[in-house]
Amino acid sequence: MQTTETPAAGTTRQTHGFQAEVRELLKLMIHSLYSHREIFLRELISNASDACDRLRFLAIGESALLGDDPELGIRIDADPKAGTVTITDNGIGMTREEAVANLGTIARSGTAEFFRSLPGDEQKASQLIGQFGVGFYSAFIVSERVEVRTRRAGAPPEAGMRWESRADGEFTVENVTLPKRGTAVTLYLKEDAREFADALRLRGLIRRYSDHIGFPVRMAKEGEATLDYEVVNQARALWTLPRTQISDEEYRQFYQYLAHDFSDPLAWSHNKVEGKREYTSLLYLPARAPFDLYQRDTVRGLKLYVRRVFIMDDAEQFLPLYLRFVKGVVDSSDLPLNVSRELLQQEPEVEAIRSGLTKRVLDLLARLAKDEPEKYAAFWKEFGAVLKEGIAQDQANEAALLPLLRFASTSQADNTPVVSLADYLARMKPGQERIYYVIAESLDAARAHPAIERLKERGLEVLLLSERIDEWVMGQLEAYEGKRFKDASRGDLDLGPLASEADKARHDAELKESKGLLKRIKDALGERVTEVRVSDRLKDSPALLVLGEHDLGDRLRRILTAAGQKVPEVKPILEVNVTHPLVTYLDGVAEAGEFGELAQLLYEQAQLAEGAALANPPDFVLRLNRLLVRLAAARGQDT
Ligand code: ADP
Ligand code: MG
Repeated sequence: MQTTETPAAGTTRQTHGFQAEVRELLKLMIHSLYSHREIFLRELISNASDACDRLRFLAIGESALLGDDPELGIRIDADPKAGTVTITDNGIGMTREEAVANLGTIARSGTAEFFRSLPGDEQKASQLIGQFGVGFYSAFIVSERVEVRTRRAGAPPEAGMRWESRADGEFTVENVTLPKRGTAVTLYLKEDAREFADALRLRGLIRRYSDHIGFPVRMAKEGEATLDYEVVNQARALWTLPRTQISDEEYRQFYQYLAHDFSDPLAWSHNKVEGKREYTSLLYLPARAPFDLYQRDTVRGLKLYVRRVFIMDDAEQFLPLYLRFVKGVVDSSDLPLNVSRELLQQEPEVEAIRSGLTKRVLDLLARLAKDEPEKYAAFWKEFGAVLKEGIAQDQANEAALLPLLRFASTSQADNTPVVSLADYLARMKPGQERIYYVIAESLDAARAHPAIERLKERGLEVLLLSERIDEWVMGQLEAYEGKRFKDASRGDLDLGPLASEADKARHDAELKESKGLLKRIKDALGERVTEVRVSDRLKDSPALLVLGEHDLGDRLRRILTAAGQKVPEVKPILEVNVTHPLVTYLDGVAEAGEFGELAQLLYEQAQLAEGAALANPPDFVLRLNRLLVRLAAARGQDT
């Protein structure tokens, strides 16, 4: 871009320290990233392309910004002898203030989170660099010194500036006169990175990583000393081509560019909608969850174009929150070019595109689940918990979402969530009317939950859940294919026709026999429980706490309490297994003090079994130990 350069009159050379996070990042770049070093090129070209995009966007309203240089593009010059590479664009450029801010700090919030999430392995670290928006600094992976010359579009030649750093904690800026707008980044390659000054190597990398950016990337013609440049990438926005003209490999490469990801996407969906409303979308399912999927300010959304002009990144209005893992592009023919984030929120057009894209993603998932169950299982493992949020957020699409759910289940020996609701229905016993599930702290705890002992014994399948949001999500579910969901740890089990006459007779007999015992336990526990009753659920455990159908469960209660909300107190029912030896023993205890202690232990162990916190753990331990000591003493007397 620039051919001459002289310090502009009356300007100062200034040295700035990098922000602490940048310093830390640079150290990481320099000392621990050896594999995938080539990502620096993808990141710098991506920045150059962004700069062109932004200028093209501004020029919609102010065409003078383009001046006599209207064709936007990127140029790469390499000098193997000097060991330098220069990436030049005639995009928006930067003012001095912008350069100091953009190339000296990390703007995105959650920087600390980024460092915390950095795993030992380099592949992932170098992937995170792009995703996190710190791409520029990757230049220092291969360079001992980096120089940036930049001039903002619309600013005079004297407003040009030169930025320079050796990544030693500081950078300097000074004003220089630059004849043209835009940015040139020159890398002075490290001794062991000289391969990147090789034109052939660079061409290969450009085709690999930057083939489908929307601007031409030019390099000097091979073997020619003249300054004759040729375009080395396709420079056609991939999504604008007909599907038949795009190879799978090209789809994959475009994803990698778009998502700053090394791995291939799991699947994609490319569609053109025509007619009353016109837009094109190219949507990808990533293979792995980003580190910040659960952070509130996680970057999400699609790249928005209007008639092929880039408008913005992360346009989150086009997909619901529970599909925030989807990457891609949406190109609308109907939205105005000057659309802003605020305007997007009011555009009825956006709402229509959003529901169209939501359907596309759900269709894509359904297709994956049907045709490639292994890939779908991989998807579920990474994103299942996020997709589940849709059950609560998007009732309109419930019918499409339900078949996509996967569960761990008592029908499987291990806890891998592979059971669909259709699988469950197909295995239901004759006369079974409910889809049973149980939620606990972990899948193992769910599997061993006292509430499902009898269900398991009867051979009834129970879905096992343990994720934070499960209580909330399952609470929203009514029925699947006419079969209602039933939390096995609440209310009555509702076995319906499954409960035989013999079952009922046994229950009535147990109830009659233990009326007195139940009352004594209730008296001993007082207000802690609403009722003490004979259980139909228990086989091996002596007791269980049961909530009402709509009572707030313990997990949700803890989440709400932690969020500072006041939650109403709920009192459970204590269900007792009257055939359990401990309970029959209790029946024979006449002394009120001992009875009271045992009744309380019964209650507390039921709390423990469901993962609830005890009100007074030391007190529990004291009582338990008194019991054990008594037991030991009794043994001593026996021998
Ligand atoms: P990101 O691209 O995700 O914002 P980077 O670290 O790659 O993060 O770049 C930081 C910022 O520096 C960019 O957002 C942009 O403002 C500025 N920048 C980098 N390269 C250029 C360029 N070639 N032209 C104009 N601005 C640039
Ligand atoms: Mg970048």
